Amino acid sequence: MICLTLPGPTVADNLQYITSHKEDIDMVELRVDFLLENHTVSEIVTHAKQLNLPTIATCRLPVDGGKYQGSLGDRKELLTTLIKKGGIRYVDIEEGEDIRYFQNLCNQSDVNLIVSKHDFSGIPDSLGEWMLGVSQKGCIPKAAVTLHSTQDLAGLLAIGSSMEFPAILLGMGVYGIPSRMLYKKFGSILTFCSPEGMEVAPGHITPRYLSLCGVHGEEHFWERELFAIIGDPVMHTQSPRLHNRWFREKGIPAHYIPFPVNNVGDFLSLLEPLGIRGFSVTIPYKETIIPYLTKKDDAVKKIGSCNTVIREIGGLQGFNTDYMGVQQPILKRNISLKGTSVCVLGAGGAARAAAWAVKDLGASVTIANRTMEKANSLAREVGAGSIPLAEVAQHTYDLIVQATSLGMDGKTDPIPNYSWSSRTVLFESIYAPEVTPIVQSAIEHGATVIYGKEMLLSQGVEQSNLFSQSVEV
Ligand code: NAP
Repeated sequence: MICLTLPGPTVADNLQYITSHKEDIDMVELRVDFLLENHTVSEIVTHAKQLNLPTIATCRLPVDGGKYQGSLGDRKELLTTLIKKGGIRYVDIEEGEDIRYFQNLCNQSDVNLIVSKHDFSGIPDSLGEWMLGVSQKGCIPKAAVTLHSTQDLAGLLAIGSSMEFPAILLGMGVYGIPSRMLYKKFGSILTFCSPEGMEVAPGHITPRYLSLCGVHGEEHFWERELFAIIGDPVMHTQSPRLHNRWFREKGIPAHYIPFPVNNVGDFLSLLEPLGIRGFSVTIPYKETIIPYLTKKDDAVKKIGSCNTVIREIGGLQGFNTDYMGVQQPILKRNISLKGTSVCVLGAGGAARAAAWAVKDLGASVTIANRTMEKANSLAREVGAGSIPLAEVAQHTYDLIVQATSLGMDGKTDPIPNYSWSSRTVLFESIYAPEVTPIVQSAIEHGATVIYGKEMLLSQGVEQSNLFSQSVEV
């Protein structure tokens, strides 16, 4: 179940949040503590009654991430009124409260009691035992704990997969995001999310993003093949949007989620328990993943970086589709590189793929980079020349492949003094923003531009084909 936390300071705000997200949610969490500044208890009770969705009523103190400023006695009275008159399905109290009192009250009112524990520093000792103990009292245990690493996520999964009772277990922070998306695999009956543009608790995502990743509204979601993209950071990537759309269009029973990872080895230990069939690899792991591969395609062997991994019996097979992502937009335009001079700006992962891709299309290649050591090393491998990035403007090229990260800020042009002409082609690898300063400059001088989005789509389509082929339909 997808539960939207309602963080409105007013009833009107909450109703607006529900209207905007109703397609993507199953229930709501009414944050009573957020409303108290603007509404009386009786207005809040009326609001709860009129929500028309299963509702959890929650009223947290600042120490638990809330805004409640009143006395504990007043809060007990407030929750009592909501249980008796608010038409709510669940009430959420903290572990230190009078569980027996609330349990009796809930039993009389057909309300389920959730007993919560929050840990903003880590995973508390004996969390599994605490969850079991609360459940044995007839309540639903809820723990929201802070994860600092992929190893912590594995620890949370070990606790969650041993629970055989209704519970809510969520990892806060960026490394906890997979526990929010794959909540049932972590032993939870529901996951919480925030309205668009808000993050009510650390790591909350939006209902729309969950739906986009196939986490809501799809029958048999949990039986579908799971794919992911690993990186750090990773939440900004367009890949979940693209791959989930392609899976849907092709009728492939699979879904694809972002998976922030701080250690590749720890992530690999989760492949089997979470049932991850394959994954995309992005910055900074395209090279780190290589020692773990049991098979590599030619592009991985040649380029020394891998952006696609499929899990097979007995190992991991690695592919590099960035190479095709560079070649295809060039070939699609019938641009022949035989005998042309191409300058690749950068010597990182994208530049490596680009250098080999244009070299294999017959170009004479120059690598231009800020750090000459890296430029020289890539140039030696590919059979190319090398120059400092600052000297590119002293030369002219038929094609320039922009493969540095300069321009992602929308402000920096890696070669601001270059003399563009209408005969030059610019291949920009950055896709956000679409028009970087170098693209702007090339357009102003009539040069042909191949956009980063084309590379993203071409490499993504290749990757999607590999993922789809690995799934038996
Ligand atoms: P990377 O391995 O970290 O390499 C970054 C490159 O940028 C290096 O050559 C680095 O030079 C250079 N650079 C960074 N900051 C610089 C600065 N302040 N001044 C001069 N040079 C600087 O990253 P990557 O994976 O190759 O990615 C590079 C770009 O390609 C990113 O913007 C990424 O979004 C894009 N990309 C796009 C696609 C797509 O599908 N469209 C796919 C992959 C990558 P030094 O060696 O001197 O540090």
